[in-house]
Amino acid sequence: MIELWGEAVRSIEPMVKPAHRNLWLRPVECISIIDGRILLRAPNRYHKEWFEDHFLPSILRDLEARTQQQFTVSFEIAEEAKPAASTAASIATRMIEGSGASAARIELPSHAKPPSLLNRYSFDKFVVGPTNRFAYSASQSVAEAPGEKYNPLFIYGGVGVGKTHLLQAIGHEIYRQHPEWNVVFVTCERFVTDFISSLMNRNGSVNQMEEFRARYRDFPDVLLIDDIQFLSNKDSSQDEFFHTFNALHYGHKQIVMTCDKLPSEVAGLEDRLRSRFTWGLIAEVGTPDLETRVAIVKRKAEIDRIDLPDEVALFIGTAIKTNVRDLEGALARVSARSSFESRALTLELAQDALKNIVASSPVGLTIESVQREVATYFSVKLADLKGPKRHRAVAHPRAIAMYLSRKLTAMSYPEIGSRFGGKDHSTVISAVRKIEKLVKDDAAQRSIVTTLESHLRDS
Ligand code: ADP
Ligand code: MG
Repeated sequence: MIELWGEAVRSIEPMVKPAHRNLWLRPVECISIIDGRILLRAPNRYHKEWFEDHFLPSILRDLEARTQQQFTVSFEIAEEAKPAASTAASIATRMIEGSGASAARIELPSHAKPPSLLNRYSFDKFVVGPTNRFAYSASQSVAEAPGEKYNPLFIYGGVGVGKTHLLQAIGHEIYRQHPEWNVVFVTCERFVTDFISSLMNRNGSVNQMEEFRARYRDFPDVLLIDDIQFLSNKDSSQDEFFHTFNALHYGHKQIVMTCDKLPSEVAGLEDRLRSRFTWGLIAEVGTPDLETRVAIVKRKAEIDRIDLPDEVALFIGTAIKTNVRDLEGALARVSARSSFESRALTLELAQDALKNIVASSPVGLTIESVQREVATYFSVKLADLKGPKRHRAVAHPRAIAMYLSRKLTAMSYPEIGSRFGGKDHSTVISAVRKIEKLVKDDAAQRSIVTTLESHLRDS
């Protein structure tokens, strides 16, 4: 049945631009088709929306024509269904399944089979900035000397900031340097499920517990375990992991863990584990700052071959402050909008595509902060910016400050006028119009204004 889906997708491919096939069409996987119900998996929800709007109707039409059957469709969102773990879970499965305890050699699938997302999680695709530099260097040191320097390495940070990326990058690098080693990557969730199922099958024909232990204690040269907070309040799994940890550590096998918080903050974690987690090195991955966010967006556009103007990268980096996953989602959304509507990827298009995500006025931004930012940028005195002088060196920055005040604060024209030394509201309106026109027609001016705007939004 799944092949039929593949055929239906291929039937619409000729109607999709080649670059967009890889970007938009193929990443949506068909997981199952059972009794007329199709389950698809999309990388994120933007992707799902676009897929539903633009591809799904044609694919279904083809499928229904082929099978003379009606279908219903539901989606699983790879990055949401199981927070931050589903991709990881799928490699873990692939890596461990079929390995039959310690006999077979486990390989990182990315070296063997290309269509996985995971090739993206390498060191060279990780953008380094002040908030992740330490974790990045620590990860590299560990990859260069596994089991020697920092054991365990404990990487922690919020959602979507690159923990899994770094963990997998370590795996890729170690595998590259030691292809004969057994590099085991597993989500903690998978570890727990495996453990529980081997407990339940204790009386089966094979001793699954022995197999489980061989797989995690004896087999790995390196154990990369993602989202260790999953152990919280799971006593027997913690006990099992304690012994796993000891066996590996005693054998000088590298252990790397990720977690959403510090060991001391994980609730319901045994003290003996908590203390072990601090034996090596603890590295935080923080939310990236503006420059890093912009660099990430650019890098990502380059990887996905999206032709992204600098001002759009700056806009996305400014607008999306939460985490890298959201940045990727925003870029995906913007580029999807551009490709499906066959419009150039401009700042206007990006603003429009993200308007529901991005609040248009940053909270708490005041006219005074706008004035200060603009005065500093143009090296004019604050008093002059608000004063009566009319020569261009002051009048132009003043007009920009008025424009930005109007755009970024909730103030009315008269209110803005009064904060600029009691100017009339019509003066403000004409300044705003003038800058609007400049921003439209003059690339250099646009870039100045967007830079100022992004600094203000980020402040
Ligand atoms: P976490 O595990 O911390 O929740 P992930 O490692 O899954 O986050 O990162 C979310 C997404 O953001 C991934 O696609 C990842 O490649 C990307 N990402 C995170 N940090 C960076 C970075 N510094 N440079 C490039 N991509 C990044
Ligand atoms: Mg993760």
